[in-house]
Amino acid sequence: MSIHYFKQAKKIISGLIVFLFIGSLNTYSQNDSNPKLILQITVDQLRADLPKTVLDRLPDGGFKYLYNQGIVYENAHHRHANTETVVGHSTLATGADPSEHGMIGNLWYDKEHKQSVYNVEDYRYPLIGSGKGVDKTTEIDPTQAAASTDGRSPSALISTTFSDELALFTNGKSKIFGVSVKDRGAIPMAGHAGKAFWFSKATGQFATSTYYYDDYPDWVNKWNKKEKYKAYANTSWNLTHDISTYIHGEEDDMPYETNLPGYGVVFPHNFGGLDNKYFTTFLTLSPVGDELTLDFAKELIVAEQLGRDNITDYLSVSFSSTDYIGHTFGPASLESEDNLIRLDRTLANLISFVNEKIGLDNVLIVLSADHGGPDVPERLKNFGIDAGYFDINSVDTTAISQVMNKKFNLTEKIVSGYFHPYVYLNTDVINKYNLDVNEVSRTLAYELQNQEGIAFAIASIDLLEGKLADTELNRSVLRNYNPKRSGEIFIVTEPYWYINDFDGLTVASTHGSPWKYDTSVPVIFAGNGLKHQNIFRNVETVDVALTLSNYLKIKIPSAASGQPLIEVLKK
Ligand SMILES: [Zn+2]
Repeated sequence: MSIHYFKQAKKIISGLIVFLFIGSLNTYSQNDSNPKLILQITVDQLRADLPKTVLDRLPDGGFKYLYNQGIVYENAHHRHANTETVVGHSTLATGADPSEHGMIGNLWYDKEHKQSVYNVEDYRYPLIGSGKGVDKTTEIDPTQAAASTDGRSPSALISTTFSDELALFTNGKSKIFGVSVKDRGAIPMAGHAGKAFWFSKATGQFATSTYYYDDYPDWVNKWNKKEKYKAYANTSWNLTHDISTYIHGEEDDMPYETNLPGYGVVFPHNFGGLDNKYFTTFLTLSPVGDELTLDFAKELIVAEQLGRDNITDYLSVSFSSTDYIGHTFGPASLESEDNLIRLDRTLANLISFVNEKIGLDNVLIVLSADHGGPDVPERLKNFGIDAGYFDINSVDTTAISQVMNKKFNLTEKIVSGYFHPYVYLNTDVINKYNLDVNEVSRTLAYELQNQEGIAFAIASIDLLEGKLADTELNRSVLRNYNPKRSGEIFIVTEPYWYINDFDGLTVASTHGSPWKYDTSVPVIFAGNGLKHQNIFRNVETVDVALTLSNYLKIKIPSAASGQPLIEVLKK
């Protein structure tokens, strides 16, 4: 319903603008203090402390520009419990909690159709062009591989985004784009009214779906025809500097790193030839993924003429390499350290490009991350910190089943499945045995919580009925709860214990908890005449969209909460 409404609305709006709204647009464009472009940069899995680990060694222009000239919020956190990619991006885009924006996890279980749902999947809007689909044989991102079609749209995003409200305010005159290697990094940021592009590992090109376009714009076809990814064939990711200059220089070969055949755990990491079926996947597991995203974004800025008039445009660029590298080698690895140094050059390139084309005084930059991430357990153990991989299969289901069967007189499985972080009960069984779903939830949660490695097993019903203590953690779980999509029990593992096995693929490190290493992200505003400040007060990522709305004095997104960041608004 909402998609057709928006598409129709867009058509109507563009028709009306010409006749009715020229006056109001003139008024809008006379506000010279508004930025010509809002550039929202999101770095996937950039825990707040990570840039600081390399900052002293960096040249000017990238992180140094942001940290030394921007307004830096030193204690910024996501306040929801399931710190996954689509959840964090959607929160930054909408200023809402997942309970209201609806993106409660990368995957959830559709109770009505009895199948898993991949957040931005929408079969009604297939990818444009042949062979652009998800190639599951080369997909090492199991969350993405869980999608059953290549159709994509923002229809599962329930609330409006800052970018939607900007489109409404300017009657569709703002140019609004989201770009990322990941579809779930691009689509939420572009909102319902903007356009999104993401990287297809199947083709090495940037793709979009029929939700956004009937056909690729000429400039996209031209960029894709250059096949820039091919230049990396038979090359490798090498260290930027001498190995002796790295904090982790002596830790290149660690047993816990994910050893992908052909790519290995030590430098140089070879991409292989074009015939290597993992070639484009390996590019995304290196700084090259971000560099291709940068190149595409620069082409977009020129071709779509962003920031060329006084109507504020919006571009979101989400860089995914830090996340893939963090998962594969851990955030405290030589690979992650070198990636930060290369990411810094990518950021510097983007910032200097918008300065050259539009001028930094005319561009408001906001940098954040969709989530942080934990260190690898083996490293933590070396420092005496309790840590480990939590095997969800290690939960003693036999013992739990016995308790449940005895108590409720069952002979069938009461659980439909686990889709991180929720356990979903089998409603058919509950109905068949005429059970009280709340009683079953509470009993199962109690049994789960007694299992080793599980810190909290929180029955959703207890949250909703206010039966739990008003703690920060319980609030973060409640903020994640959406009645149509969440399961009956939310599982929180012990700090630094996490599930790292996705459908058989074991990775070094995984985020997705309410603990601080996963919630902690940078929030930095820079450009457009802002003066440097370090702010040490706690702020939340829901504050970002609200601040952008207030900055432009436009309507806030439909479910936005949080607090406007006054240091940015006091310019
Ligand atoms: Zn992520």
